[in-house]
Amino acid sequence: MDNAEKMIYLDHAATGPMWPEAVAAMLPFFTERFGNPSGVCRPAQEARRSVEEARRKIAQALGAVPPETIYFTGCGTESDNLALTGYVNALRSVQPEKPGHIVVGMTEHPAVLETARALMRDGVFVSFARPDENGVITPEALEEVMRPDTVLVSIMYANNEVGTVQPVSELAAVSHAYGAVFHTDAVQAFGHVPIDPVAEGVDLLSASGHKFGGPKGVGFLYVREGLKLSPILNGGSQERHLRAGTLNVPGIVGMGEAARLCAVSMGETATRIAGLRNLLEERVLAKLPDVTIQAKNARRLPGHSSMTIPGVTGENMVLMLNLHGICISAGSACTSGDTKPSHVLSAMGLSDRECYGTIRISLGRGTTREEIETTAATIVEEANKLRKMLPE
Ligand code: PLP
Repeated sequence: MDNAEKMIYLDHAATGPMWPEAVAAMLPFFTERFGNPSGVCRPAQEARRSVEEARRKIAQALGAVPPETIYFTGCGTESDNLALTGYVNALRSVQPEKPGHIVVGMTEHPAVLETARALMRDGVFVSFARPDENGVITPEALEEVMRPDTVLVSIMYANNEVGTVQPVSELAAVSHAYGAVFHTDAVQAFGHVPIDPVAEGVDLLSASGHKFGGPKGVGFLYVREGLKLSPILNGGSQERHLRAGTLNVPGIVGMGEAARLCAVSMGETATRIAGLRNLLEERVLAKLPDVTIQAKNARRLPGHSSMTIPGVTGENMVLMLNLHGICISAGSACTSGDTKPSHVLSAMGLSDRECYGTIRISLGRGTTREEIETTAATIVEEANKLRKMLPE
């Protein structure tokens, strides 16, 4: 059996297929165009030109920010680490006596949460901003945890588990009113919804190639003009002394092309995908009216759907759908396999039982209506079977 052919892939929030054009753009950089962009000879110059072209494409996709504000990294996780630790360390290098206070959202990805915890162990005070039942951190909720010595706020652009898009401009405005810089983890959002860091008041923004049709193992950090960060890796002077290490030229070229393609097709793709996501939810609710769609009353990413299904566990549902060749996840890929309930759903007020009964379905640009109809029918069928196995 050809599994790849039969599979319905609905786990794009974990990762997704690359744009074929982005793969094609990368290929020469593995062989004949192998130069190291830090060098001086011709292959190096060619590689450098291509890296700068990719930087321009990404800058353009971010509301035409200056290309020099884009710094290439190894992944979204590294961008988040560099934003938080790099900014705090830069402040400490001029004011070593002040540990400072930072705020992060309770529903952040571990890339931000664990970085904040590491800073906490290093003497920085950390507060956690609480979301409402839709996963939204309101400006009022942020104000509650701000302090006069808050130096940085990090709240994700959109959540990886439930898809909630945050009121970024308002959160950035609150941060600035306290003199803090505003970082947003846009790993799930970049390439899927329009983002303009300058208009929205974002100082630092993280993204990752593989979440928008680029390759894995490459990301970038936007750093607002004039903002100083300290490097977190010791080494060479690449990326204007901020990120040491030979640049991943094929990855950067592929990510740049993916950013361009997303920007060109975003409006049409988002409308189509959101329509299919809404259809999926309607179909499931029509047969299983006790299902709760998480973050339903918030602005959501177009492709995300988080469903809590009473009487089943998300893990069982994932396994049953997998037998039908349908790939989804329970909670988020990063925490599944973990026995703890999702910290995102818990922060939104769900009980442990509700957390364990939640699945995440994430559509991509290749998702079809037929796939959605099949998936909805299979969820209903398997939920009914699993419920019958429950003890009376
Ligand atoms: N931030 C968010 C919101 C994510 O969803 C992820 C990955 O799932 C990351 C950060 C980490 O990105 P990467 O896999 O590129 O390290």
